[in-house]
Amino acid sequence: MTILVTGGAGYIGSHCVQQLISVGHKVCVIDNLSRGHREAVSPQASFFQLDLLETERLTEIMKSQRIEKVIHFAALAYVGESVKNPLPYYTNNTAGTLSLLRAMQHSQVSQIVFSSSCATYGISANVPVTEESPQSPINPYGWSKLFIEQILRDCAHSDPNFGFIGLRYFNVAGCTHDGSLGEDHMPETHLIPNCLNTALGQQSQVTILGDDYPTEDGTCIRDYIHVEDICAAHLLALNALEPNINRFYNIGLGHGYSVLEVVKTTEQVTGSKIPIEYRPRRPGDPPILAASNEKISKELGWSPKYTSLKDIIQTAWDWFQSHPHGYQTQTGSSSEKKLKDD
Ligand code: UDP
Repeated sequence: MTILVTGGAGYIGSHCVQQLISVGHKVCVIDNLSRGHREAVSPQASFFQLDLLETERLTEIMKSQRIEKVIHFAALAYVGESVKNPLPYYTNNTAGTLSLLRAMQHSQVSQIVFSSSCATYGISANVPVTEESPQSPINPYGWSKLFIEQILRDCAHSDPNFGFIGLRYFNVAGCTHDGSLGEDHMPETHLIPNCLNTALGQQSQVTILGDDYPTEDGTCIRDYIHVEDICAAHLLALNALEPNINRFYNIGLGHGYSVLEVVKTTEQVTGSKIPIEYRPRRPGDPPILAASNEKISKELGWSPKYTSLKDIIQTAWDWFQSHPHGYQTQTGSSSEKKLKDD
């Protein structure tokens, strides 16, 4: 089967492309390389550099490559940035997905696995969060994803052939177990990479963004899930896709760790002291996010292989040590330009 993977040069997308190829799928990647890395894309995948908003080109590629199903990762995904600069989030994520759905319609492709996010829940009264929990995002990133969720539901209601599975990720972390693929964002804002860069001596300290949250140590709690477990969930979702399927699943471990716990665990893994500094909260951050994963376990048979934060961070540390400057091709300056242009 030929699968179109949007955002296949990004962190999660590139890992998923590798897994899809390893189980025998043909993969076609599209990515605008605003934040992804060309070298992260498996040489066994075909690659087209284009933006999701280029509907006509996208349609041509889907037809010529005989695409059967789509896995849609391509998105801007920084909570803090989305608060400061929301329009690129709605353009790239929401309008970009509309363009993709139009291209799918024009090329008679009607099944899609969509990357949604725990950010669609906002501040949840019940933790772990189930899929039925109210969704009320507190940042534009979360809204940009929630709008797409509704659009997908509407497509499924209007077309009996259309089928989708939306996967709501919690905090994705770690790198491939064999060290072949890693995590390299520009700019880097994520907690675990920032801790590892500090351990490598590439930054002097880690900033703790808020110590006055209603949690035991005052720092935010997040549910960290290994990137290979996320990819495994995509493969299961891909197999479960069929006309008229209309489902959402959380993917997380089911419990969370505070920012300070992540820093301490990184110290254990790296053997380095990680200096910290406290700063005020980052706008858009909910205090606690942790997933109930019962639904995906029961319905798709998914279960995480990595259940310890230490093991997850170890896989990332292995890659960071062997790639202290990340991938060779850096894409930050063009992404900065893109955001300004929007
Ligand atoms: N965080 C932090 N310092 C950093 C980066 C992140 O304190 O340098 C906090 C952030 O406020 C959030 C948690 O760590 O509560 C996870 O943030 P990250 O950016 O890794 O993922 P997100 O939850 O935004 O997807």
